[in-house]
Amino acid sequence: MEIISDPHDMQGRARQWRGQGLKVVLVPTMGFFHQGHVSLMEYGKTIGERLVVSLFVNPAQFGPQEDLGRYPRDLDRDARLARDAGVDCLYTPEPGGMYPPGYQTFVEVESLADGLCGASRPGHFRGVATVVLKLLNQVSPQVAVFGEKDYQQLMVVKQMVADLNVPTEIVGRPIVREPDGLAMSSRNTYLSPEERAAALCLYRALLAVRELVATGAKSREHILAAVRQLISATPGSRIDYVSLVDPATLQEVEAIQGEARLLLAVWINNTRLIDNTLLSESRLCCV
Ligand code: AMP
Repeated sequence: MEIISDPHDMQGRARQWRGQGLKVVLVPTMGFFHQGHVSLMEYGKTIGERLVVSLFVNPAQFGPQEDLGRYPRDLDRDARLARDAGVDCLYTPEPGGMYPPGYQTFVEVESLADGLCGASRPGHFRGVATVVLKLLNQVSPQVAVFGEKDYQQLMVVKQMVADLNVPTEIVGRPIVREPDGLAMSSRNTYLSPEERAAALCLYRALLAVRELVATGAKSREHILAAVRQLISATPGSRIDYVSLVDPATLQEVEAIQGEARLLLAVWINNTRLIDNTLLSESRLCCV
């Protein structure tokens, strides 16, 4: 496995692959790999001929009070996991290479990026859209793979690529969970054993809602009340947002008609966790 850190070298290698007619797949990450990242790599391996994984803790997507400085990092372990997953190139640019002195261009996606995590983390999706566009320009992949764990991010990136005519297909892949249901995340390493137990309230809330919906519940009021009740009963937890949205527009819906997405952000003491699930209107219906 090759490790490239210089954006120009990355572009050069990508140009060479394109010249050879190879199908290139990119998995963008911030590193500290877990099985969620590995599942994206394994999928990427099955659909392309060259697999690039980028590892970049992007300063532009962190707010001033956020965890950029303490975000977990372990390049040696990540390189081993990437190699084992069959990655051809681990791309590890430096902040100074991505945003050299004098840098001044950013990408803003409008309404999709406004609510949910965009409302709690101003500027976050501006940073995400910018770095993803830069990575797509550096690697020129035919396909880029993202996790549904960050569902709003996936939708923002799809919109950006469509709006700016970027010739890359964006593919979303399912959330990988710990055996007890907690969505895998590099930020789970921040949790103490007590907080780790409390963090399960997100998954429990999603499960409870899926059950409600399976028995015919549709209304936003009913669904959100169940989530709020379950989470507020968990010590140390505080809801940032809970939203029932149209899966394509991310606009709030009053009731599930066809499909909706339930999105959740919860603070467990000082750690902010997100999760989500697709909800399909139950066919079991009342007369
Ligand atoms: P991150 O390193 O957290 O920025 O994540 C890099 C990519 O991995 C993003 O596309 C995430 O959505 C995806 N990802 C993170 N956690 C998971 C998970 N538990 N299951 C599936 N994909 C994930």
